[in-house]
Amino acid sequence: MAVYEFRCKKCKRKFAVTCHIEERDAKAVCPKCGSHEVEQKYTADFSSPRPDKY
Ligand SMILES: [Zn+2]
Repeated sequence: MAVYEFRCKKCKRKFAVTCHIEERDAKAVCPKCGSHEVEQKYTADFSSPRPDKY
């Protein structure tokens, strides 16, 4: 499981989805306007922390 943060391109709403990666695209829907036009902002995978220097 991982947390995926998205921002809706239509209404600028930010939202997070917690799911498996296979479900990510299906769940990347804006909760406010229902748009699929979202951009991913950040991925937090708790099992493998990102290094400070990317
Ligand atoms: Zn939206």
